This record gives sequence, C-alpha cells and structure tokens, in this order.
Amino acid sequence: DSKVNDDLSTILDWSKQEGDLGVYANADTPADFAQALKFGADGIGLTRTEHMFFKPERLLEMRRLIIAEDVEERKAPLAELLQMQQGDFYELFRLSEGRSVTIRLLDPPLHEFLPHDAKEIAKVSDQLGIDPGYLVRRVDALKEINPMLGHRGDRLAVTFPDIYEMQVRAIIGAALELHTQGLEIQPHIMIPLTGSKAEMNWVRDIVVNQVESLFDERGTRLKYTVGTMMEIPRACLTADKVAEVSDFFSFGTNDLTQLTYGFSRDDVGSFMPEYIEKGLLKADPFQTVDVDGVGELMKMAVERGRMTKPDLPIGVCGEVGGDPKSIEFFEAINVSYVSCSPYRVPVARLAAAQARIRRSQTQDVIASFVKS
Ligand code: PEP
Ligand code: MG
Repeated sequence: DSKVNDDLSTILDWSKQEGDLGVYANADTPADFAQALKFGADGIGLTRTEHMFFKPERLLEMRRLIIAEDVEERKAPLAELLQMQQGDFYELFRLSEGRSVTIRLLDPPLHEFLPHDAKEIAKVSDQLGIDPGYLVRRVDALKEINPMLGHRGDRLAVTFPDIYEMQVRAIIGAALELHTQGLEIQPHIMIPLTGSKAEMNWVRDIVVNQVESLFDERGTRLKYTVGTMMEIPRACLTADKVAEVSDFFSFGTNDLTQLTYGFSRDDVGSFMPEYIEKGLLKADPFQTVDVDGVGELMKMAVERGRMTKPDLPIGVCGEVGGDPKSIEFFEAINVSYVSCSPYRVPVARLAAAQARIRRSQTQDVIASFVKS
C-alpha cells in the first residue's frame, strides 16, 4: 500500500511540474481541507459558507437573525455568528500554511434556514421564545415561488448588508489573528451570483469598507482580494466591465449551466436521461462542460475579462471543475485553476498535466473538441 501511495505521489508531483493549471479543493470544513491537502491541493478554491450554519446552535442564531425585523434585534445574533464564523475561518487559514483560501459569502435564499412545517414551527418558536404566529408571518414573507432565481447570492447583500459585513469581519478578523502570529495568510473573498459591474461594485464597497475599518481598529493590515463567481450569463457577456471591479473570477458552472440551458439544476433527473438516450444531448452538461454552449460563454468571459486585466486569475469551481474532459477544455481556454471536491483532486491534477502536454503537441485543441 505504501508503495502505491509513493508511486501516486511521484506521479502527482510530476503532474504538478507539468501542468500549468492550479488544482484547488472545494472544502467547507477543516476535515475536508486536510483531506484535500493530503491529495496535493494547492489550497481552497471554494468554501461554501452556508454549510457552516447548519450545525444546530448556529442554525438557531441564524434563524434568530433572519426573523428579526429591526436593526437592534439583529445585533445579538450577528455578534454570536461572528464569533462562530471567525473560529471556522481561523481553522481553515491555520491549515492553509500560506496557501490561498477562497471563501464565498452566503449564497442560498434565507428561507432555506427556516422551518416550514407546523411541528418544526412550534418547536423553533419555543426555542426562540417567540410567538408561533410571528414566525409563520416571517417565514411567509421570505417564501418565493422560484427561489433559485430569487432572493439569494449578492442580492442578499443589497437587502441585508449586515450578514455579509459579519462574514467579512469574521474572515479578515481570523486572518489578522494568524497574521499577527507571524503566519502568512492569503484570504480571497468571493461574491456569489454577480450579474453586472454595478452589482459587483456595490457589494465590493460593502466588503472593502468593512475590511478597512477592521484594519483601522486592529492597527494592522494584510493583503486580500475580492473576486466574483461567474455564474450568470450576463456577467459573462459583460466580463470586461465586471473585471474592472474584480480581483479574480471563478466560474460557478452549476448555476451557469442552469441559467444557460434554462434547466433547473435540481429537476433535471426527470428528463435528462431521456434527452441523452434520444441523442438530444451528448452528455449531462452539469457534469461535463458543453464546449459550444456553456463553454463558449466561458471562453468569451475569459477573453473579455483579460482584455481589462491581462493577469486576471480565473478559476472554475462548479462540478465540472473535477471532470478530466472538461479540464482539457479549461486548459485550452486559459483558465488559471480548477477547484473540485477533495477526492477528485488527484484525477484533476493528472488531467491538467495531460491537457498541458496535449496542447503542446496539438495545433488547435479547441477545434478538436466534439461539439454538441
Ligand atoms: C456553481 O454554481 O457552480 C457553484 C460552484 O456554486 P453552488 O453550486 O454552490 O451554487
Ligand atoms: Mg452557484
């Protein structure tokens, strides 16, 4: 076994030397991150912070925050959540040993954190010491017919800036704590669901103001970046403008595919197999990038983003980020890195090296991809 492990790490080392593409992990917990590091990840390309709020004690504070209607009532749960989040980020940064850690601010619609059936409503209103009727009214107020296209991502930052402010303080607070211990920390703050430069600029201001005031309070500073997910077709089409206010891009191909195809990512099971069987689709585009659809949009966004900033770092952190066929395409369109689940890191690393070698031997790699 140890021979196999040694051979694997030798091959992964060669692959790392050979490949230009960075390979990062999608990791939300220290355990995931530790696993990814064992597999040779370059750092974290995506931490989905929403997953941190589903532990029972946090869920309760999150609920207290979401149902609060005035600023005063929001202060106590925000202070609790700040402490908890700061601890989460501290652990991730500590493990990073100077590698990049990209943390995405809250993305899902807020009603996902709330109870919906009568039994849960009764239990939660009891836990929070509030009237069940009030809780029902708040749950109803946040209900949406089409939540994945609704009040989520950076739209939350426009309507509830204090949630993102809390997360930014927790990220930079944790980074500063380690920084003052003499450790190198590379925090990258990522904004989900950006659709335009104006939107990115709005949220970036919220982030930067918070970071700067924390630097002033602590009397120390560190390097950080603020970038955006590219997961809305309009952001890709206007990538030259979005790049003016972004330090990096990271393609969220799950949402980008959903929005390019008009397929709900949570409902494709009912028709996708038949589409593939009947030849209407070559493959599931959520698993392997469709090079002349979503891929074309990505290629355009890479080119437009780099017209504004030639060195703009550009990643892919959706499901296809760990898929070898897709990785070959990403390498060919000059993506800088992919980020995938820890267990896919070794395969992604090999695929990145193979893609690099193939590109050096093939005139036009993109032309050789099968179109849908
Ligand atoms: C994506 O949309 O591809 C992505 C990485 O974000 P999420 O899956 O969390 O929406
Ligand atoms: Mg997404």
